[in-house]
Amino acid sequence: MTAVGDDGFLEFDRVQKSYDQQTLVVREFNLSVTRGEFVTLLGPSGSGKSTVLMMLAGFESLTSGDIRLQGRSIARMAPYKRDIGMVFQNYALFPHMTIAENLAYPLKIRKRPTAEIRSKVQEYLDLVELGAFGNRTPAQLSGGQRQRVALARALIFAPRLVLMDEPLGALDKKLREQMQLEITRLHKQLGFTVIYVTHDQTEALTMSNRIAVFNAGVVQQCDAPDVLYETPSNGFVADFIGENNFLPGELVGLTDDVAEVRISSGDVIRTRRADADRLGMRCQVSVRPEKLFLMPSDHAFDTKFTARFTNKLYVGDFIRYFFALPDGTELVVKVLNDLAAPDYSEGQEVTLVAATKDCSAFAPHRPVPE
Ligand code: ADP
Ligand code: MG
Repeated sequence: MTAVGDDGFLEFDRVQKSYDQQTLVVREFNLSVTRGEFVTLLGPSGSGKSTVLMMLAGFESLTSGDIRLQGRSIARMAPYKRDIGMVFQNYALFPHMTIAENLAYPLKIRKRPTAEIRSKVQEYLDLVELGAFGNRTPAQLSGGQRQRVALARALIFAPRLVLMDEPLGALDKKLREQMQLEITRLHKQLGFTVIYVTHDQTEALTMSNRIAVFNAGVVQQCDAPDVLYETPSNGFVADFIGENNFLPGELVGLTDDVAEVRISSGDVIRTRRADADRLGMRCQVSVRPEKLFLMPSDHAFDTKFTARFTNKLYVGDFIRYFFALPDGTELVVKVLNDLAAPDYSEGQEVTLVAATKDCSAFAPHRPVPE
């Protein structure tokens, strides 16, 4: 796996974009990508992800800021000179050409010798496991096969950078998972640099070296998948990635790395410090359903509080237990379905426990759009 360092291979420097000279759809985009990295822009629909890719590819101008590739500004460079491969959701293969001709096209316009083109086309057909399909036309392939051709066509001229904008969005779930593995395999094997765009968090978590969580034109956090999941830097990221409980409260204690929050049950919860930073402020404790445990528990925990049992939901390998706090906040605890899974009566008071490192104190955030 590629080291997440900073060799300045690709740099977005305070990039802004407005389409109407009034509202900024990209407000301040800063990102530094290392050669060989797989970086995903993840965010809700309309958050400006495609706009960033379009500026990188050269199909949209920057309103301000700069983009540098290998140290050189490309902000005003013609798209075809940027040496960037692209894959989009709607394959965009040439319908009147065969698959082999589609693959040959990027090499032909780069005036590569005929013999090289012929061998490269076969090599890349084999690479995406379509070795026998060179003479077919796009219409004679399935959606998944067409998308593999689009992928091969984006890679065949060994571009220094590959952009993918929701490339699997049109495929059904099973095919999408196959293609995720396929893209990951090719990335490992060939070592190209990828900027990938998706609104699907599972896709982002499984494929990327780093994920930039994007909202309202601003990067909220850019980190490795496990770091994002375990230590989100604000409520939006905690809400957007995975599932989370949010317990409203008041910030009553603060040290360099621990925040203490009094919730409506009267309990004070010790949390890792995040962006709630003013004593007395209204804030929220977030803790994931699989990081909350029912007392008695085998583990030693440093945070506990009480809540009333309301309901449970059987989901096979897990049971989801629902609880309510005095202020009406509902929360869910995910419990392994084993012999220890308890039975409670409705309204029963239960003690819940968690580790400080798994609880975060966040300033209130706007809800994540659907
Ligand atoms: P995403 O890819 O995250 O869904 P986009 O970059 O496509 O977001 O869009 C961001 C915002 O910019 C949206 O509000 C969208 O309506 C607007 N937008 C995108 N493309 C254009 C365009 N060519 N002209 C005007 N507005 C646009
Ligand atoms: Mg988009």
